[in-house]
Amino acid sequence: MKNTTGLSIVIPVYNEEENIAPLVEQLRFLGDQFEPLEVLLVDDGSTDTTWQCIEKEAQSFPALRGIQQPRNAGQSAALQKGIHAAQFEVIVMLDGDLQNDPADIPKLVEALDGYDVVCGYRANRKDTWSKRYGSKLANKIRNMVTHDGICDTGCTLKAFRKKCAHDLPPLEGMHRFMPAYFKINKRKITQIPVNHRNRIHGSSKYTNMMRLPRTLRDLNAFKYYRKRVIPQELIR
Ligand code: UDP
Ligand code: MG
Repeated sequence: MKNTTGLSIVIPVYNEEENIAPLVEQLRFLGDQFEPLEVLLVDDGSTDTTWQCIEKEAQSFPALRGIQQPRNAGQSAALQKGIHAAQFEVIVMLDGDLQNDPADIPKLVEALDGYDVVCGYRANRKDTWSKRYGSKLANKIRNMVTHDGICDTGCTLKAFRKKCAHDLPPLEGMHRFMPAYFKINKRKITQIPVNHRNRIHGSSKYTNMMRLPRTLRDLNAFKYYRKRVIPQELIR
């Protein structure tokens, strides 16, 4: 029997032309499990043929909808574009480079029972040594301020209820702080281990050199926001 809750999958992609076809292939099985289902591929101003690849795949997968950013505006903006376009009750986000495994999606949705948010954590992370340690350090610094207790905020694979979309401020770098923003609004959050794979096609859009200073800048934005924010329960 199909799950009838309604599932929107949001995937940001920037210059991922070689990954679109295999990604869509790995998402097709969800059509047998979830009804209604939509897969929103947000092209973040790619300069390669990513958009053409999305249009081609959409012809044979009706649940797939492409959304185009007018320019490369970053992962946070692309995610929010997809989140706000999402029509259904449960939203799942993942990266478009096949490092996250679509096979984990049903597990995430199941774990949402009794929770508002499920954060995946990469139990066996397939990244370079420097990336893994850079991310460990960033998580430590972030946790010292946010106290969100989330061990791997950088793992895009997350599921949440649509009402939580209002918790997310339109800030650059927001995607690295999503659990902390959910926590401000007292959402019930849990974490589950998810699969992680090597990037086969294309290359990472980030380096440690750019990520660490950005984390510090975004941490300051978070601190200010936390001080001044009006909780959702008081405005909705
Ligand atoms: N991405 C994006 N816009 C950007 C940078 C990245 O939409 O400006 C997408 C990218 O195509 C991928 C996801 O965000 O689907 C995560 O990026 P990446 O794999 O480069 O990050 P990493 O795994 O190296 O942390
Ligand atoms: Mg990646």
